[in-house]
Amino acid sequence: MIDKKLLEILVCPQCKGSLEYDQKSSELICQADHLAFAIRDDIPVMLVDDARQIPAE
Ligand SMILES: [Zn+2]
Repeated sequence: MIDKKLLEILVCPQCKGSLEYDQKSSELICQADHLAFAIRDDIPVMLVDDARQIPAE
């Protein structure tokens, strides 16, 4: 489970926008860039290169 305070200070490394926490997949989502950042061992991996592309709806 990720700390809510940590979540508040985290921004997308690409657009500096806010992120949404997806509890189901344990990822941080940037809606603007359609990127999902994985959380490994409670540490968000805030690297665009490692982010998963979310297919646009
Ligand atoms: Zn972004």
